Amino acid sequence: MSTALSTAIQQTPSRFGYATHLSCRECGHTCPIGSGHACAECFGPLEVAYDLPSLTRDSIESGPLSMWRYASLLPVRPDVANTPNLDPGWTRLMRADQLASTLGMRELWIKDERGNPTHSFKDRVVGVALAAAVELGFKVLACPSTGNLANAVAAAAARAGLRAVVLIPADLEVQKIIGSAVYGCSLVAVRGSYDDVNRLASELADERADWAFVNVNVRPYYAEGSKTIGFEIAEQLGWRLPEQIVVPVASGAQLVKIDKAFRELVATGLVEETPCRVFGAQATGCSPVAAAFRAGHDVVQPVRPATIAKSLAIGNPADGPYVLDVVRRTDGAVADVSDSELVDAIRLLASAEGIFAETAGGVTLAVLRALLKDGVIDPGARTVIINSGDGLKTPDAVADTIEAITPIPATLTAFTAQESARQPGARKAGSA
Ligand SMILES: *Cc1c(COP(=O)(O)O)cnc(C)c1O
Ligand SMILES: [Zn+2]
Repeated sequence: MSTALSTAIQQTPSRFGYATHLSCRECGHTCPIGSGHACAECFGPLEVAYDLPSLTRDSIESGPLSMWRYASLLPVRPDVANTPNLDPGWTRLMRADQLASTLGMRELWIKDERGNPTHSFKDRVVGVALAAAVELGFKVLACPSTGNLANAVAAAAARAGLRAVVLIPADLEVQKIIGSAVYGCSLVAVRGSYDDVNRLASELADERADWAFVNVNVRPYYAEGSKTIGFEIAEQLGWRLPEQIVVPVASGAQLVKIDKAFRELVATGLVEETPCRVFGAQATGCSPVAAAFRAGHDVVQPVRPATIAKSLAIGNPADGPYVLDVVRRTDGAVADVSDSELVDAIRLLASAEGIFAETAGGVTLAVLRALLKDGVIDPGARTVIINSGDGLKTPDAVADTIEAITPIPATLTAFTAQESARQPGARKAGSA
């Protein structure tokens, strides 16, 4: 990858933008841009490489109010915003002062991914995978999914006029099943864990030549979509990097790509190079990357998931070793929290900031709390946490913590009786 400074003549973008080739993350072997996803030399995962153009803050700020404002840093055609898609991204970055004061922090921000078309950050990765799949001539959009990806694939395929096939573990939340099926996709519920579903999808990807499994055979493109979270955070902070960021980890791609985004912003001269410590968040019931981090290992030992944080329940994470690289290089960490800690965190975020996060968001906030308590995260540093999904898709996680609701007759007497039963003294204070 050459930077803007070393490129004297502006390149012309192709139908994959400024992406030039695919490169193996293990051995560095390169191959032409196309539908490969594993290295021919070592079977390592391939990654998109670019000859990045020079960019200005002005040109980005005048772009579309979607992730496509960053099209020139993605493997997509320059006019991608005009192709049939759901225009994901450009979600809110909210300053969370009440939460910060509860936690004893100086400056805390929440990147709220509920604002995406199907309410999770997965619309971003699917946006790039869909664009690549169309360019590469695939006819069907498919995926193995822990739920949110199925929603995003089904919706994006509907809008693009493609058939969608989504494979999910049969025990998924009903909201995520309906939130896929409603778009008219072929939904296949598999008895087994996500890792079983993923294995079946890999076999199918080998067999069905014109099916693009977004996170399998077009994974190099898919993964690039997560960079847009990092680009937007930097822009929304006034073109600077946070000092600390906490990111949920399932496959680990999101965390790795947010770090890659920060480095590309520095390489293109859009932000100043300042250190950003990257932290990964997992649920204890599926914490293979946190376990490897603690043990000082470079490889991740697969586990069988057992957590209510189903969107993070990947026992054999494809990007696990790269997550370890990023957190060690940036002086970060990977930590895990119990299901009850994540539920507490969902309630805290909702009551402190009015944001109803799904279980993955609860995990992320709970890990922030745990690492503050352990003195690992600096309460005085500018910190961003990601809320990657919507609590309305996982309401059962908190249902048991909600006070029982007893209906009353429509009378003032009944209302005040219930009010004083709930908060003795409320009436007196209210009527003073
Ligand atoms: C998929 C997902 C994640 C994890 O993303 P990876 O890139 O696989 O690590 C986090 N949060 C939510 C809500 C998700 O759906
Ligand atoms: Zn290789």
